Amino acid sequence: MIYLDNNATTQLDPEVAEVIRQVWASGPLNASSQHASGRAARARLDRAAAEMGRLLGADVQQPGGPQLIFTSGGTEANNLALHGVGDPAAPLIVSEIEHPSVLEVARRQGQQGRPLHWIPVSSQGVADLAALEDLLAQCRDAAPLVCLMSANNETGVLQPVAEAASICRRFGAHLHVDATQSVGRLPVDFTALGAGSLTFAAHKFHGPVGVGGLLLAPGVNLTAQWQGGAQQLGMRPGTEAVALIVGAAAALSRACQDQQANADHCRRLRDRLEARLAQTVEGLVIHGRQVPRLPGTTCAAFPHVDRQSMLMRLDMASIACSSGSACASGSSEPSYVLEAMGVPETQIDGSLRMGVSKFSTETEIDRASELISLCYQRLRESEDVENQGF
Ligand code: PLP
Repeated sequence: MIYLDNNATTQLDPEVAEVIRQVWASGPLNASSQHASGRAARARLDRAAAEMGRLLGADVQQPGGPQLIFTSGGTEANNLALHGVGDPAAPLIVSEIEHPSVLEVARRQGQQGRPLHWIPVSSQGVADLAALEDLLAQCRDAAPLVCLMSANNETGVLQPVAEAASICRRFGAHLHVDATQSVGRLPVDFTALGAGSLTFAAHKFHGPVGVGGLLLAPGVNLTAQWQGGAQQLGMRPGTEAVALIVGAAAALSRACQDQQANADHCRRLRDRLEARLAQTVEGLVIHGRQVPRLPGTTCAAFPHVDRQSMLMRLDMASIACSSGSACASGSSEPSYVLEAMGVPETQIDGSLRMGVSKFSTETEIDRASELISLCYQRLRESEDVENQGF
């Protein structure tokens, strides 16, 4: 199989798998227990938290400094932020292209009476900061919660989060950044960014599925959504998954160490894939091509074909990619991200997302571009035949 679905999840790095195996093999691991084994688990957990904080520009050991709350992944961290940060009745200002773990919570809170406003995006998929400023001016004195992701999971388009953070600070608003797609892939410095909170998930940077985190700026209070344990200062109770957290720290450390080289590799392969497809697929459109994107991600519209039919053919040809966010794949819902960008329906119908990783090779990309072009030509031919009523 040629795996091009790295925005949904990435392959676990074998070295990280070995770290996790060793932690699991080392014995019982309850970091709240007072005996020696519990204290050893606590020490491992604290070291992993400090290391991840350091790599993300947050000194989580400093008293009164930023805090890192471990969660089961990006979805939980986003839910925790939207439900737990600030006044639950304060206005919400959310970009139209957020991941469903932000969008659906916001919609539900809006239905329950929380004031909800949307930040539109440009045709290239970049959030409109002038609109954000206008919305903040309307909500003055209400300490709103603003949600803007660092990079979109369908198009890979990078969002102006640093500028948004400075605007939010000016208006006394809390900025929550869903950085699930960029942590590990691009440098992230939480303190320099100046956001109020930030989400990440280890499985996007070759770490294990099932662990992520929410970084909180100094002084940000989080209301726990669950009760029944004192772990993580009661803010997210439950026995911590020590082995997964240690694995996440190892994965982040590896990702940051080789970040530039990995990004260059991914960008080169992504550009190669796009160039080859553009040669063989007439009228191919790359969404967000004119603005900065994640190094390995491409979202392309194949003219006059249906994305689900393309995906099925590609799957049979052993190519794994997707039609958008993992939650939306398998369904035939059109992409709300492309809709928000004003992409014509005919292009949305044939849009696919492909993403490479540090494990992708040039040989794979060359083979994938041949197979994708072939699947596209065959599908066009079969659809032409159907349309002619044969
Ligand atoms: N946010 C973004 C931008 C994502 O891409 C994803 C996963 O696709 C999530 C949140 C959810 O993360 P998880 O799958 O770890 O719950």
